Amino acid sequence: MPLLFHFGWVQPPVLGSIKKTVNTAALALFFHSFELYFTRMKCTLHTLLLLLLCTQIQAQRWQQHADYQINVDMNVQKHQYNGTLRLAYTNNSPDTLDRAFWHLYFNAFQPNSMMDIRSRTIQDPDARVGSRISKLSPEEQGWIKVKKLSQNGRPVKYEQQETILETYLAAPIIPGETVVFDVEWDAQVPIQIRRSGRDNREGISYSMAQWYPKLCEYDEQGWHANPYVAREFYGVWGDFDVKITIDKQYVVAAGGYLQNPQEVGCGYEDPKKPLNLPAGNQLVWHFKTPNVHDFVWAADPDYTQTSIVAEDGTTMRFFWQKGKGYDEQWGKLPAIMSRARTLMNQRCGPYPYREYCIIQGGDGGMEYPLATLITGNRGLNSLVGVSVHEQLHSWYQMVLGSNESLYGWMDEGFTSFAEDWVMNQLAEEGLLPGKTAEKDPYEGAISAYTALAKSGTEEPLTTHADHFNTNYAYSLASYVKGGVFLIQLEYILGKETFDRGLLRYFHTWKFKHPNANDVTRVFEKESGLELDWFKEDWVNTLNTIDYAVKSVEKEGRKSTEVVITRIGRMAMPLDIMVTYTNGDQALFYAPLEGMRGQKPAENKIERTILPDHRWVEPTYTFQIPSSAKKIAKIEIDPSQRMADIDMENNTWVSPD
Ligand SMILES: [Zn+2]
Repeated sequence: MPLLFHFGWVQPPVLGSIKKTVNTAALALFFHSFELYFTRMKCTLHTLLLLLLCTQIQAQRWQQHADYQINVDMNVQKHQYNGTLRLAYTNNSPDTLDRAFWHLYFNAFQPNSMMDIRSRTIQDPDARVGSRISKLSPEEQGWIKVKKLSQNGRPVKYEQQETILETYLAAPIIPGETVVFDVEWDAQVPIQIRRSGRDNREGISYSMAQWYPKLCEYDEQGWHANPYVAREFYGVWGDFDVKITIDKQYVVAAGGYLQNPQEVGCGYEDPKKPLNLPAGNQLVWHFKTPNVHDFVWAADPDYTQTSIVAEDGTTMRFFWQKGKGYDEQWGKLPAIMSRARTLMNQRCGPYPYREYCIIQGGDGGMEYPLATLITGNRGLNSLVGVSVHEQLHSWYQMVLGSNESLYGWMDEGFTSFAEDWVMNQLAEEGLLPGKTAEKDPYEGAISAYTALAKSGTEEPLTTHADHFNTNYAYSLASYVKGGVFLIQLEYILGKETFDRGLLRYFHTWKFKHPNANDVTRVFEKESGLELDWFKEDWVNTLNTIDYAVKSVEKEGRKSTEVVITRIGRMAMPLDIMVTYTNGDQALFYAPLEGMRGQKPAENKIERTILPDHRWVEPTYTFQIPSSAKKIAKIEIDPSQRMADIDMENNTWVSPD
């Protein structure tokens, strides 16, 4: 579409991205008219215009925007509900859209769905799913049937392909335009198989995740209309306004701010004000949630709610079924989560919402904006562990929101990394009974990664999450190798630089869907070091790290020569610790040539900086000057953060 047309139709420049489109378009027009008169300058003007456009692309990342107004009416006898949805969708992309795609997740819970077949054919199925979907009776299945769909009041043609609804728009949506979709649908809640559904194994009536027609995300890589096979999520940020009408025996918990507490009570109400419960058998629960990419709720007649104002001033709500043997743990959870949140804010960046809800429901632990569904029958440390993990997704999935299908490791991996640290801090503060803090909270992650690397089933992190050959390879890549990505960065950059980089990553990329390059660039900027060599090996390949101390030989009276071999294909900068028989230590540091610099000394330990280590060389040789002291031990990476897959050969011990 010609630029002129864009310019004429662009909405008032409310958002930065649109404003820039207008400016660029205006400049384009300006230069275009010049062109007519000064044809000789044509080349120069084109180049200038191209440069301007490139600057625009590099300086920002546009985001689509989707504001939902949803009304649902739940029939608790039939486990069915009907809903209406009004979606104001703003196309902030530079592209004109003539189709739109929606997720209809509940349709996965039908025999022979892609999720069913995937689960029955993968070699290591998730035990929660197995072949259960293939055996669902019609009453147990899930479905969403769209009855009506219109765009700005005009009916839209649509086609349902299982979990994806494809719509052929009534009129193309041009860059900068906001359109309104109205959708009406009927749905049936499946029996709980995975994540959402009715009657979970702990007896929670409704775990309502992935429950409404949800617009797929459109980004610089186009539409992400991935059929649901039980794995990942990606969504458009916007504001949700949700009204749930349900039998008044049910207590509703949700990832949102309740708008009408006096009309529902159940622990939400202000005790100083009178309750104003409506007559009749039903209650309407009205929630609003700003700037999120999904909305979850749960309902059960036996929920108990407790809430606290956490150390950071936010409200935390807890919903569980009392009297089933785990009240003590749930009673202790709020104070611990309050402390955990403070740690998260310090390490990962400030939590940007004013509420968070921990809800018994689902089938393990699953994260949503402002809420999590977790199973409740757990010991205290397990309850804290799952709550900490799911809450940390508020940073890496909800606020940063990397596309989990393409960069699952940037969500699960970074979340697991932060979880290991938070849990270790809580243990150190004596908040986890029977658990003492580890000196190195990441030891478990590094050994799990090593097992993956040696398993023969590893696939690169660039693998689309849905397409990993096994659940094992997917899980270990996402949860573990993704976390070890950050541990390696800490080793390469030094702890202080790394910690600053982690915060800078949050502040730079919040609400922008960062990718693998974005996160690496932030750490490059923070450290001043080059990191592309690291990202390319760690993310795109299965290359592994394995260094060994090959030989240590005294060279006459002046020095000792140390030869290090690089056995693994991946090169790394090397910290090498020399320990003398009297206990003294001397640290040597061989930066990697590709880093174009050095990390600062860590923990103020003095070190000898050696010449660059060049990755092409199979060995690296350096000299330790002789002294009166006798060398007892030479060790590569004494911090043991470097993910060397064979630690056995990292240390040389003097035979004497
Ligand atoms: Zn997770």
